[in-house]
Amino acid sequence: MNWQHRAIAVAGLMAAAAWPAWGAGNLDFLPSRAELLQPAPNKAWDKFSTAVDAHGVYPIADGVYLFMYRGTNSLFMVTDDGVIATDPIRVPVAPIYLDAIRSVTDKPVKYLIYSHWHWDHVEGGQTFRDAGAKILSHEACIPHFTDRPNPKVAMPDETFSGSHTVTLGNRSLELIYLGTNHSDCLVFMRPDGVNGLFIVDLVTPGSVGGTLFLDYVPHHWVRTLKAIEAMNLDYIISGHGVPLAHPTAVGERRRYLEALLGAVGTAYEAGLSRAETTAAVEAQLKPFGYMRGFDANLSGQITRLQIYYGTGW
Ligand SMILES: [Zn+2]
Repeated sequence: MNWQHRAIAVAGLMAAAAWPAWGAGNLDFLPSRAELLQPAPNKAWDKFSTAVDAHGVYPIADGVYLFMYRGTNSLFMVTDDGVIATDPIRVPVAPIYLDAIRSVTDKPVKYLIYSHWHWDHVEGGQTFRDAGAKILSHEACIPHFTDRPNPKVAMPDETFSGSHTVTLGNRSLELIYLGTNHSDCLVFMRPDGVNGLFIVDLVTPGSVGGTLFLDYVPHHWVRTLKAIEAMNLDYIISGHGVPLAHPTAVGERRRYLEALLGAVGTAYEAGLSRAETTAAVEAQLKPFGYMRGFDANLSGQITRLQIYYGTGW
């Protein structure tokens, strides 16, 4: 056991100690469903950022739940023949997630779906496999797993290409593949009977996104958000932050990205210095200054997009 493994074991113990029984979680601070489903701009979406230790099971629809753990959320569905779970999150979190599922149903977890290959969402899958689940991912995730072996990531048992529907008992979960955007194997998930879409990483309601846009291809990101906007959803289910949001959260993020891409691109073509670029972009993006993370993350995002315009990456 090296220091990393020890740290993970300690983190697992701490999580277990801080949370001895699954109970009902501590999601009482969340705004009401009606508040979350108000259109953008919606300040209710910012309430989440103040609750670092938030955890619990949030009911989305009949038989559809969101496991929420300290900022990262995973969808699961209860069918009459077992459970379809998604993203195990982290090695220490996976057993807590299983306990959370067991607080809702005693049916076994039959499937575990990876939303994409990034380790912050898929470490801990072995816990679900040991409990009898079959692990699925898009086939484009496999080269990433084999290129960067991580003993904490369980390899999928089965893969699919394009979009795919997982059926179990009386329910089904549609896995929608929209090509490259955030990595090249991300799937969006729509439970049957629900006009809502589980979106991991591409939209965190009310936020401008992270400072480095890690593993995002900017123009494919915009393209994908437009495709989601065209779905005419009733709501989105979020992989980070608040559990639910009005679908205008997607357009809000897309408009921000388009404005940022336009402003940085114009500055790049004009050969502006870094200081001139920053001043020009800040001036043009002022209308988005109300979004969460704007002041903290804009500088890094400008750097990231200067690299994009300079290299295509
Ligand atoms: Zn990711």
